[in-house]
Amino acid sequence: MSTIIRGKELAQTLREKTARAVEAYHLKTHKRPGLAVIQVGEDPASTVYVNNKEKACQAAGIRSSVHRLSRDSSQLELMALIEQLNRDESIHGILCQLPLPDQFDAFTATAAIKPEKDVDGFHPLNAGLLFLGREAPVPCTPLGVLAMLKAYKIPIAGQHCVIVGRSNIVGKPMAQLMLRENATVTTAHSRTQNLPELCRQADILIAAVGRARMITADFIKPGATVIDVGVNRCSDGKLAGDVDFESVSTVAGAITPVPGGVGPMTIAMLLQNTLDAFLRIEKLTGEV
Ligand code: NDP
Repeated sequence: MSTIIRGKELAQTLREKTARAVEAYHLKTHKRPGLAVIQVGEDPASTVYVNNKEKACQAAGIRSSVHRLSRDSSQLELMALIEQLNRDESIHGILCQLPLPDQFDAFTATAAIKPEKDVDGFHPLNAGLLFLGREAPVPCTPLGVLAMLKAYKIPIAGQHCVIVGRSNIVGKPMAQLMLRENATVTTAHSRTQNLPELCRQADILIAAVGRARMITADFIKPGATVIDVGVNRCSDGKLAGDVDFESVSTVAGAITPVPGGVGPMTIAMLLQNTLDAFLRIEKLTGEV
């Protein structure tokens, strides 16, 4: 039986650490980090994510505000809101909850956020800096995956990491992060041939596809570490990852569960990115 990588517990520890740092900076500067979350439309999943982010901020002592635009508002209204938040000195982090309704251009919206307030790490400048191996805000989910691997002391340098999925928010930044950690990285996608065979070569397999339980035991090299980013709502209403936990956990060396794995780490990293943005903008050092 493999080691269960308990993201939920690790995320709690990291959130408490961020909360302690926030309080220490507040004592010193009488300021708190401020996060603005923009939600356009009423997508139920987005509403759950936005509410969870707001609750997590409150628990960490981070000021948060949610700015809701109706689904029939215009790109112009969204850009005006971003501009207003860019200028607001009490706001250190801005995120625009994706996906946006169809008539919106997410790239233009993301690119309008001031790069230093971009706590999602989706701004083209920050994506470029990550690609160049320079310091920049990194997307929360890949950052959370890396934090889990490090916390569980999974060797990365020189290991073969296969990432299934090449989205701009998970797969691609994940590949860059693993490269930065000196892994040998392969990125697979919907056109990849012989996927099970490729995955069986992985020392670390990261699934970010969005297809319930598609990664089964025959994709896994015995002893490999398996990270399941997928969150899929099944017909019975339950959540399932991209990995078939039951069969894969009999072969893998370590594995993340869904729920309770990558998801909570994403929120913990958002809080950390917001604190980092606060330190950057207020020109504070990393030491309190
Ligand atoms: P996208 O839909 O943007 O990307 C999915 C990727 O999977 C694409 O690159 C696609 O390939 C690839 N893919 C699709 N089908 C196959 C297949 N049969 N074989 C191999 N590759 C395939 O999804 P996201 O990256 O946004 O999200 C992925 C999953 O992670 C989702 O379940 C999402 O809910 C979850 N997620 C979880 C988060 C968390 O905090 N836990 C945060 C963000 C996402 P191609 O490019 O060729 O189309």
